[in-house]
Amino acid sequence: MKILVIGAGPAGLNCAYWASKEGHQVELYEMRKKLAYKPCGEAIFSEGFDFVPIKPTESKWALNYIDRAVIYYNGEELFETDTKPYYGWIVNKTLFLEDLMQQAINEGAKVFLNQKLEKIEEEKYDLIVDAAGYISTFARRKGLDYSNYKLAPALRGYGKTNKIREDTLYIDFFGSGYVWIFPYGKGYVNYGVGGHSASKSFYFERMQRFLKKFEIEPLGKIEGAAFPANGPLRQLRIGKVVVAGDSAGMVMPSSGEGIRFALFAGKNCFKENYEEIFWTKYGERLIVGKKILSFWLKLSDKEIIKTVKTLKPLTLIEAFIEGKKPSIWEGLKLISEPSIIQKALTSVYI
Ligand SMILES: Cc1cc2nc3c(=O)[nH]c(=O)nc-3n(C[C@H](O)[C@H](O)[C@H](O)COP(=O)(O)OP(=O)(O)OC[C@H]3O[C@@H](n4cnc5c(N)ncnc54)[C@H](O)[C@@H]3O)c2cc1C
Repeated sequence: MKILVIGAGPAGLNCAYWASKEGHQVELYEMRKKLAYKPCGEAIFSEGFDFVPIKPTESKWALNYIDRAVIYYNGEELFETDTKPYYGWIVNKTLFLEDLMQQAINEGAKVFLNQKLEKIEEEKYDLIVDAAGYISTFARRKGLDYSNYKLAPALRGYGKTNKIREDTLYIDFFGSGYVWIFPYGKGYVNYGVGGHSASKSFYFERMQRFLKKFEIEPLGKIEGAAFPANGPLRQLRIGKVVVAGDSAGMVMPSSGEGIRFALFAGKNCFKENYEEIFWTKYGERLIVGKKILSFWLKLSDKEIIKTVKTLKPLTLIEAFIEGKKPSIWEGLKLISEPSIIQKALTSVYI
């Protein structure tokens, strides 16, 4: 097939690699000169590396191996935990994507940077992959249903401190979102904030408060972006156009994580049964993640603290990161809190 890919993010580049490797002719266009222009927390769970030809242990881009987290709520430390069996890496995303791009080029993909695709000669291609991220417009213009597509705002900056450990994620929840501080190697940090129902100034203030705790000295400017927060599009194909990654809403609504799903979609989006592959592996879990988020947003501050202190850390991690419903046995630990149980039943289980 002759395949056109719009966008050199994780989804587009991984598609370019695998489709070229399988013998397709691939052209990829990226509107920016530099890869990874869009702000990101740059954390990738280990499963994400199952879908790419490059591995963190043999790379220049893997900055820190992570298998611990300290969880706060409104600035108060709730618990510290080992996150295993879930672990991952903080990466330099620009170097990661450059490495992936080089692999795609080695397989024969033609990659054009600094070229925004506007008018597309559709008849020249058998398949068009819209991997243009959350700013994508092409598939929408072709008539794909985006009526449930919703974005949430986020901010991201870099800084320096000697107050955090290099194997640990620091997360401060505040009801409608969270602040993160991720160790970026050698005392640097990637920090940011994202959420679902407040103003940018509220998020900014929350972030500053958490940064202060760790005496973070900001470096450079804080940048804004957004992530799809309402689960994946039901339909991923219209005519000869497919969507992959953020353009398809493939982000875990509860955590804002999207790279793993974008890489998976990129690897599979040129296959005939792409939609079935995606829905079997991740689609349903992202929908559960959306329900878990809706439960979380209904809780009062007191109920959130009660829930977090009652459930096992692993249950919370699996709910937020993997879109996994807590078992009935875990849920029963909250039996003395009928209001929480009722919100869980109506949001997640029924
Ligand atoms: C602040 C923030 C922090 C995040 N942190 C994390 C994190 O720590 N871990 C995680 O897993 N996920 C994180 N995410 C989500 C993650 O960044 C995205 O899910 C992921 O990058 C999606 O990949 P993609 O390839 O679909 O899209 P993108 O990475 O957005 O790539 C799309 C590319 O298409 C290009 N493009 C757009 N239009 C055109 C056009 N017309 N012509 C040519 N090129 C075009 C863009 O320039 C861009 O390079 C975060 C998101 C935000 C906003």
